Amino acid sequence: MKVKVFSKSGQLVELDSPRVVKTDDQWQKILTPEQYKIARAKGTERPFCGNLLDNHQEGVYTCVCCGLPLFSSDSKFNSGTGWPSFFQPVDKENVIEHHDSTYGMDRTEILCARCDCHLGHVFEDGPRPTGLRFCVNSESLKFTPKDKIAEIAEGK
Ligand code: FE
Repeated sequence: MKVKVFSKSGQLVELDSPRVVKTDDQWQKILTPEQYKIARAKGTERPFCGNLLDNHQEGVYTCVCCGLPLFSSDSKFNSGTGWPSFFQPVDKENVIEHHDSTYGMDRTEILCARCDCHLGHVFEDGPRPTGLRFCVNSESLKFTPKDKIAEIAEGK
């Protein structure tokens, strides 16, 4: 599949990468119980509790499961909802959307395109320029500051 990753110099480049597929047992071995509950079992962390909500550093938010870059500090904003919020992903190819009708609601679930990690939901009440609000669980993300971007180069 085609995804976008950062090169060592911090440019977004296309990569042909295999999908990341693991069993529940394998995911449980590499994730904390809380990460597993949210990222693989589609849970939701309590609002105003996530460790990345008030992170204002410049950098990149990658998938906690497979390391794919998903969001950048450039598009993070304070939505007041209690979850980290972004008005766009680093690239449309990296985040996929599924219709979600659980809990009697009509919502659009967002997932990592490479490993199907549950990220959260996207809503149409975001700020300019997109008008979108990608509402994401901290537990589904790993933050890497801008000066360490070489460490996550090539989506590792
Ligand atoms: Fe992933």
